[in-house]
This record gives sequence, structure tokens and C-alpha cells, in this order.
Amino acid sequence: MSTEQAPLVDPQARTIDYLRISVTDRCNYRCSYCVPADGASRSVREDVLSFEEIAALVKVFVGLGVRRVRLTGGEPTVRRDLATLVRMLRAVDGLGEIALSTNGHLLAELAAPLRSAGVDRLNVSLDSLDPAKFERITRGGDLLRVLAGLEAARAAGFQSIKLNTVAIKGFNDDEVTALCRFAWERDLVPRFIEEMPMAAGRTYLPGVCLAAAEIRARVAEIDPRATVVEDAGGRARGAGPARYYRLSEATDAPPGAMRRFGIISPMTEHFCATCNRLRLSATGAVHACLGYDDAVDLRAPLRTGDLDGVRAAIRRALAGKRDGHTFQLIGLGGPRKAMVQIGG
Ligand code: SAM
Repeated sequence: MSTEQAPLVDPQARTIDYLRISVTDRCNYRCSYCVPADGASRSVREDVLSFEEIAALVKVFVGLGVRRVRLTGGEPTVRRDLATLVRMLRAVDGLGEIALSTNGHLLAELAAPLRSAGVDRLNVSLDSLDPAKFERITRGGDLLRVLAGLEAARAAGFQSIKLNTVAIKGFNDDEVTALCRFAWERDLVPRFIEEMPMAAGRTYLPGVCLAAAEIRARVAEIDPRATVVEDAGGRARGAGPARYYRLSEATDAPPGAMRRFGIISPMTEHFCATCNRLRLSATGAVHACLGYDDAVDLRAPLRTGDLDGVRAAIRRALAGKRDGHTFQLIGLGGPRKAMVQIGG
């Protein structure tokens, strides 16, 4: 194999086969843990990669061993004609799974077209089942629309849709059990995410992160006769950052219910040792880690047609991939970038 095509292995010997692609840094929600109150800077249109440019970069990444991509943002569904991009990516030889992370606001209209274009898997953010709380955390979001979007996604044939909840003390810690029940009744997989201090701590209130152990304890309250056990070795097939669990002895569960749930715990039980990803920003920069601001530009070599230069830039980003993030150093080493700018 030529070095040009050698797989992406970082200095810690982690193999990269997964790329998260932010297709826009715009979002129709302004979640308080994601977007700073005074806003986040947005890219100018000419800097944002076209669909052709994204597809060209995905071809390069697939040539280097990437097998799965996730479209994220910002909010990916606000990018016009997203299904067209999905069809273009579907045509890339060697690419396996295409997944999408969305807040669900536009899913009622878009679930079916995105499914037929070739999206395999869907994650939908859902931080509360209370319309007023949902509106508050998203700064204007509409819970009923998201719930309609979820139904449309199920009707479109998406299986095992994951529900992503950022778990926040004093906000939705009292909803952990309700969110699990809601998900399980609909054959969805609830997942809880520990809040990360992005944007130099501007989106973060110290002390509100609900830790993985506390989340497991909350889920256990659903059935005092059951215990929380690791599911499938604690990791999902395909290895995302989530660890999976289930409530054992499904004593009062409907037949066949797995009572599975996931936890993404970057703060208290981080998973950096198994990190398998790079991130591509909407403007064509590769970020090796969510926890640092450094990035390597692919857009300049791409726009001059220099694909060797693109590959060399990807390898530079990879060489700088740290062994772990520093989220624990809130404001003292955590990233200045906001989630909305690079995608979670
Ligand atoms: N808009 C899309 C969505 O809602 O899924 C994609 C982008 S969003 C940044 C991806 C995920 O990151 C969402 O589930 C969101 O809740 C999560 N997220 C955003 N800021 C976060 C933070 N500070 N800590 C943990 N998760 C965060």
C-alpha cells in the first residue's frame, strides 16, 4: 500500500475510520449549553464547502480508511437540499454508513426524503418532554414539532433511532426515567450526554453536569428489582462514544423490550483511548479533537485541486491528535470554540 493510501493511525495508535461532517454552522435552535448567550460567530457563505467539495473530501477520507460518516452541524437539516448531499455521498465507493444528528425540528418534512436518499441512522436531540422546559433550553424550540418529526422518522423506516439528552442537574435530572420510558415505548434508544464546557466555559454553569454514575442511578429507579448491567460489552456495534447498558430482569417491561440506554460521558468516564474520529467543519477544517481549538485547513488545497495536499493536511491533523481532551480545565485549556461551530 502506498503511504498516500495508508490508513489513518494517530500517534496513540488509534485507527480513524469515522468522520463527523458539519454541513453548516447555522442552527434553528440556540440550546443554552451549545450556543453562547451573546451568539457564536458564523461562517461567510463563500467559505462554506459546497456539496461537491464535501463529496470530494469524503472520497479522499474513504481512500484513507474512513468507513462511516455522520452529518451534523449546526443543524444539518437547515442546509438546503441536504438529501442531494446524501445521494452524492451514497455514490462514494467504499463508504459504509451515513448517519445524521438533528434537533428534529424539520424532520416531519425531511425524514422520508432523507431516508430514501440513503441516511442509515438517525440521532435526535431531546432534552425535555415538557414543552415549556424544552422551549427554554433550546431558546425557542417547539417540542411538538420534534415529536412529530420522530414519528415521521419511524414511519419512514428508521430503526433504533437514538434520542440524545444532555443531562443537566436542576433542569432535566428529574426526567431521566420519563425519557427512558418514552423511548422504550417507541423502540427508540435513550442516551444521556454529560455536558461539556465548550466556548471557554461561556455556555457552562459549574456543578450542573449530571455524572454518568448519577445517570445510571436515576435509570435504576425505574425498577427497584432490576440492576443496571453493561450491554454488549458496554459499547455499541460500530463504536461511537456511547457506553450501553440495560436494566436487567425486565420484570415489568413489555415482552421483547430491551430497556437499553446509552451514556456519553466525556467528563467523568472519558473514552479518549478509543476515539476513532476526525471532524470536518463546514468551512473545510479538520479538527482532531472537540476539546482543542487547533485545526488544519483542507479547503485551500481542495480548491486548487491539490488532493495530495489535502491528504498531507489530513495527516498533519492526525499527527496533532492528542491522547485526551482537557474539558476538566474549564476556561483554562478547554476549547474556545462552541459546539455549534463544529458539531457534536
Ligand atoms: N443540531 C444537531 C443536533 O441537535 O443533534 C447536531 C449538532 S449538535 C451540536 C450535536 C449534539 O451535541 C446534540 O445532541 C447536542 O445536544 C450536543 N451538545 C451540544 N453542546 C453540548 C455540550 N456543551 N455538551 C454536551 N453535548 C452537547
